[in-house]
Amino acid sequence: MKHINLDLPEVQVRELRLGTITGYQGNAADLVEGSSCGMKDTKRSFQQCLGCSTSQAACMVTLIRDAAVISHGPVGCSTCLHEFAFTYRVNAPLRGVENPTARHIISTNLDENDTVYGGAQKLKEAIKTAYDRAQPNAIFILTTCAAGIIGDDVEAISEEAEKQYGIPVVAIFCEGFRSRVWTSGFDSSYHGIARKIVGQPKERRKDVINVINFWGTDVFDRWFEPLGAKPNFITPYSTVDSLRHSSESAATVVVCKSLGSYLSAALESEYGVPAVKTPPPYGIAQTEKWYLELADILDKRAEAEAFLAEEKAKWLPLVDELRFKLKGKKAYVTAGAAHGHALLSILGELGLESVGASIFHHDQKDDSGAEDFCSLDAAVTEYGDVDNYQVCNKQEFELVNQLNRVDPDILLARHGGMTLWGAKFGIPSLLIGDEHFSMGFEGLYKYGTEILNAIENDEFVKNFSQHAVNPYTKWWLEQKPNAFHEAPKKKKDKKAKAQQTAV
Ligand code: SF4
Repeated sequence: MKHINLDLPEVQVRELRLGTITGYQGNAADLVEGSSCGMKDTKRSFQQCLGCSTSQAACMVTLIRDAAVISHGPVGCSTCLHEFAFTYRVNAPLRGVENPTARHIISTNLDENDTVYGGAQKLKEAIKTAYDRAQPNAIFILTTCAAGIIGDDVEAISEEAEKQYGIPVVAIFCEGFRSRVWTSGFDSSYHGIARKIVGQPKERRKDVINVINFWGTDVFDRWFEPLGAKPNFITPYSTVDSLRHSSESAATVVVCKSLGSYLSAALESEYGVPAVKTPPPYGIAQTEKWYLELADILDKRAEAEAFLAEEKAKWLPLVDELRFKLKGKKAYVTAGAAHGHALLSILGELGLESVGASIFHHDQKDDSGAEDFCSLDAAVTEYGDVDNYQVCNKQEFELVNQLNRVDPDILLARHGGMTLWGAKFGIPSLLIGDEHFSMGFEGLYKYGTEILNAIENDEFVKNFSQHAVNPYTKWWLEQKPNAFHEAPKKKKDKKAKAQQTAV
């Protein structure tokens, strides 16, 4: 089924498009199998707060060098944009950006009056201010819950402004209340980019490969060199012009399917740019498969095989040494879906036992329509099943409950704030935000070294746990981690229903 329709201003949320679920407790293999038949999501009778799609959309458009971004809503909803302005500045050296340009971020600051009389006028003024002050090459408008509830016609306003100012003015529909899966916000921002920024290709360039990523260190220059190509990063540190020409690239790769699967599918189906379907290069098996699939698209298999052989000869003996030192250690993972699966692959490759995982969502389909898209399936097939696998959209009380039961030697996390829970239990915890750090054979060695360092230097967390206050009670820690999951409602059979009606 085709999920991409660039004629529509909005993209469907993941629950509807990809059958994404946010609650599951069991093992990974059963989840993979159940997903192939389509599983229903599990609701919770109690839950803690969630992430917001606006934040994920902001994460992608705030990092475009020559664009301005407007948050159309109360000022509080715009705080995440400032957080990404900080990200833009501090990560610039990782990508060789010497003079990061100032970010141009505006909030329409909707208040109570506006929720009664509408916020259209404030939005028009904000667009004018953004244009006059920043002279941007594009303006992105992020919608928020308040704007969605009062029903401002953001699409019509952006169309009108586009004609007035002669630059793309892109409405991105990412109100937090639309979805329990906050990664829907990535899709919203990419939908806007694919509709309004990406242009029709005038040529097909063999020397450029799109890389849909966050803001990690550039490892792709070196990898693409044997293929005679350069990376075109989307979107951090891109320009409106480089995004426009992304339709001319030879191929698209994603570093995280949770992040980039929608845009890579849109670039393929709407602009003819082939997307690499193999999950990203984490672990030996996936790295080889991924690189060869990319090389085949560029007709460079021989060059790719030579590069892989060189890399393996250099790094795999070192990985073997690490395996020996890490043997028998138990690890627990908490991360977003695709990156969490990547970490499971890395653990399998390094010979650690994955004793459990708290993963933020699970997609049951892929926008490309590919059957073998699932990186969890790839990890389970290659490295075995994972017990204590939970899908929990950052419900920290469920993570804490399970962590307490499985008592791993190390906790691996991808998001800030999560390693705290490992430390409270005296578990060495490792947070690496650079998503490129553990890629390829070199990444496997570097990440394994960090794991070993964290396990061997556990004095701080052991000491910390003696003094830490855990807000969760003994009662909660003794409950099952999914105690607040509601069982799916059973359909009453017709006979029982008829008897009940007769009574
Ligand atoms: S959930 Fe709604 S109100 Fe909260 S930050 Fe997101 S858009 Fe704003």
